[in-house]
Amino acid sequence: MENIKVTLPDGSIKELPKGSTGLDLASSIGPGLAKDAVAIEINGLQRDLSDLLEDNATVSIITIKSIEGLEIMRHTLTAQVLASALKNLYPDAKLAIGPTIEDGFYYDFLPTKPVSIDDLPKIENEMMQILKDKSAIEKSYHSKDEAISFFDDQDETFKAEIISSSEQNDNFQIYTQIASGFIDLCRGPHLPKLDLIGEFKLTKVSGAYWRGDSTKPMLTRIYGTAWRTKKELNAYLERLEKAEQVDHRKLGKEMNLFHFQEEAPGMVFWHPKGWSVYTQLQYYVREMQKRAGYREVNTPEVVDRKLWETSGHWDKYRENMFITEIDEEHANEKRTNALKPMNCPNHVQIYNQGIKSYRDLPFRLSEFGKCHRYEASGTMHGLMRVRGFAQDDGHIFCTEDQIESETKGFIDLLSTMYKDLGFTEFKIKLSTRPEKRIGTDASWDKAEQALQDAIEKLKLEYFIDEGDGAFYGPKLDFVLTDAIGRKWQCGTLQVDFNLPGRFDSTYVGVDGSKHTPVLLHRAALGSFERFIGILLENYEGKLPLWLSPTQTVIAAITDEANDYAEALNKTLLSHKLRTEIDIRNEQISYKVREHSLNKVPYIVVVGKKEVTDKTVSVRKLGSDKNTVMSADDFIKEIVSGSKNPLDIL
Ligand code: ZN
Repeated sequence: MENIKVTLPDGSIKELPKGSTGLDLASSIGPGLAKDAVAIEINGLQRDLSDLLEDNATVSIITIKSIEGLEIMRHTLTAQVLASALKNLYPDAKLAIGPTIEDGFYYDFLPTKPVSIDDLPKIENEMMQILKDKSAIEKSYHSKDEAISFFDDQDETFKAEIISSSEQNDNFQIYTQIASGFIDLCRGPHLPKLDLIGEFKLTKVSGAYWRGDSTKPMLTRIYGTAWRTKKELNAYLERLEKAEQVDHRKLGKEMNLFHFQEEAPGMVFWHPKGWSVYTQLQYYVREMQKRAGYREVNTPEVVDRKLWETSGHWDKYRENMFITEIDEEHANEKRTNALKPMNCPNHVQIYNQGIKSYRDLPFRLSEFGKCHRYEASGTMHGLMRVRGFAQDDGHIFCTEDQIESETKGFIDLLSTMYKDLGFTEFKIKLSTRPEKRIGTDASWDKAEQALQDAIEKLKLEYFIDEGDGAFYGPKLDFVLTDAIGRKWQCGTLQVDFNLPGRFDSTYVGVDGSKHTPVLLHRAALGSFERFIGILLENYEGKLPLWLSPTQTVIAAITDEANDYAEALNKTLLSHKLRTEIDIRNEQISYKVREHSLNKVPYIVVVGKKEVTDKTVSVRKLGSDKNTVMSADDFIKEIVSGSKNPLDIL
């Protein structure tokens, strides 16, 4: 019998009879692997375990233990199990789609009667019943007409529409649950049988439009999560509950930091306390950047479309820009402007003032410029995704030879800032050249190497995302981990071979002739708005003393302590502390509860005894005990504790 050869991930070659499948390969390696196998990767593409191996292909087995395997399990759960449960419970419903999302999945369908969160236990139950059959799942291939008629017969109009609008004409894959006969159209892969499904829970119900079309009836979307084991599922559910408790929108309300309203969607109304956090953070970043050699600038927010045409934004980014028409009364001229979505083109204008030589490089500018980007209304989420924001933005104009040292300098700055702000763990992703790109291969080689060398010299871990760079240059992304294990992409460093050339930026080199500088776009925190959201959630609102909007409240127990409270407050103010007094005619327990809810780090209680003894009774946030100390000792403690990491109050 004829044999085929395939290459395994470790480089070894395996020979198998022609006609062997992924499952045959797994079994030939070992029974344990065959048991855990959920799919196969052939030449980089995920395929079903039942698919035939190709001669000379590179293959790897995807097991349930891998992230990819977990994703395939979640996908099979929603596409096969949730979908068939919905069909059993709501026979007249029409099924739409069931993709995976982070940590879980959802399914969109059109029921004939409303489905609410109260129906989820019933649906879960039905799913458990389906899983009892441990049904095998088989795949078959069909032509376009055949596939359409399958779903037409079942009156599944969404599925039929997906097939008819496809550019493909044959090889439509249909997966059948053997036990029930339920069929699903899918690109796959699916699990070979349902007993590989782990533990799951349906989490919420919401609405969604079919292909975003709001003129059509709204579909019902059911969300769920799925994991390999009960332990993993419970750990996730705990994380979810924790995340709800620390939701920055909830904290923002409780702590009176900010609000949003309908007249300005995605734009923050910062209240005094929220703005205090914002400006403290900004002072800190400003000083850090100054020390790292950046010079701060400020540039216009409303800029003529001509500039955006030259930069390329008008062409490529216009749908995300706020555009304004202005009648210039005196000039009798109409202008079209756009609110800047980013600061870069403006910084190029500053660079272009006057002739630059190689001695002027690296030329580093920073700006906390307010930018506006039009985000679709459904995608906005508190401070995490807004339309108006300012970044800790900076641009470095340099030579190709300087990319490495500038990158190293930036990563040094970023790691110090993350550490100072309470994040000790971050990951780096290096995205390399995509297929469509500008610039010479030599420039790409040099830039990619420079980024890689910078990270390696700092002995930091990183991973490479091949081909994920922008068309104008490779980039680094920095992802930090918060207190409850969530990942946030905040920092970025982007090499740009494109923009300086578009504006004819040059410098005179050592050789006396003109060269185009490379531009590095970089931000460590990203938008201040979003970063404050992350900070609030990371600290559960209990911000470090130096960032707290109110560092201490002095609460008097009796009127007789009011003067003492006032005097203490004045002293603290003279030490530049953010302090308040509370001499309202309320019970002290009420005052303490209220200021605790506002996350005030130090609540100072003073009564008759404290006045006589020149002491204070201090309650630290999170403690249920008061400590009595001399007023002088307290002032010393809070003054030294309130210094920011740079001591620049
Ligand atoms: Zn930029």
